[in-house]
Amino acid sequence: MDQRAIDDERTLRFALWGALQTGDGPDAVDPAVLQQMQIYKGQRGMFADKVRTMDLSDDGSGVVVALRHTGLVYDDDLSDDGIIYRYPATSARGRDASDIAATKNAAVLGIPVFVVANSVSAPGRRRVRLGWVSEWDDSTGQFLVVFGEEPLSAPSLPDDDAPFAVTEARPTKQRLSEQRIGQAKFRFDVMRRYGPSCALCDMRIVDVLDTPHVVPVKSRGTNDPRNGLVMCATHHRAFDAHLFGIEPESLELCYPGRGLDALSLHITVGSLAGLGKSPHPDALIWRWDYWRKYARV
Ligand SMILES: [Zn+2]
Repeated sequence: MDQRAIDDERTLRFALWGALQTGDGPDAVDPAVLQQMQIYKGQRGMFADKVRTMDLSDDGSGVVVALRHTGLVYDDDLSDDGIIYRYPATSARGRDASDIAATKNAAVLGIPVFVVANSVSAPGRRRVRLGWVSEWDDSTGQFLVVFGEEPLSAPSLPDDDAPFAVTEARPTKQRLSEQRIGQAKFRFDVMRRYGPSCALCDMRIVDVLDTPHVVPVKSRGTNDPRNGLVMCATHHRAFDAHLFGIEPESLELCYPGRGLDALSLHITVGSLAGLGKSPHPDALIWRWDYWRKYARV
């Protein structure tokens, strides 16, 4: 690897990002401009500009320049602070593997990438963000890209016995740039903690798996992954509607009556004890009190 070439590529990307701040700004970029700047072109989700970046990595895969997010399939995965980007799964396996390697290379070499989404304010234009491939998870096939001009110092998953506070102060808008650890990272970390499977049934399709907070966001629940669970969309909805509760000590599922039970809710487990990990006890106790209040049991 040629460190000078790597530094030059990083410098080039910051210069391109600077250029995108002029004119209509990064929220309304003409796709033709992205092509001219060699940031994104073609049809694929990942653009690695092999001609320019191939020699930067030892594996010949290059370094991904841009990740295209159309919002057509995985709309929920884009947030203000970052994006969870799925590994490509096309029929061209070799090309997919090369694109995945090129994206990992951006993380390994510390080179920022551009995330190209559709503009909200200007139809036909693109909303571009500069971000850093901060983590990936081969088991779920996902990258976490965190937006910002500096890489996030990679905080690993907290140990189960690390200090835990059920609530945390939400950053104000002004402080958002300082506290970029948010929504995208929470989903990524929760999925990695428990694996890609609903806690209540056998659903394992990532596209329909959510990561609800045990202590909800509206109650300032923390983004610590120990405050999350993986649930399919149906069971997430049922959790939000207080149709079942989780007894914090035994982890057994409880129902408020009214014909609601495991069978009617398509819940296939009697407790969460079979999960390899469980949420932090403090979060479960908080939720239990909340559930009993709302489910009126
Ligand atoms: Zn489920």
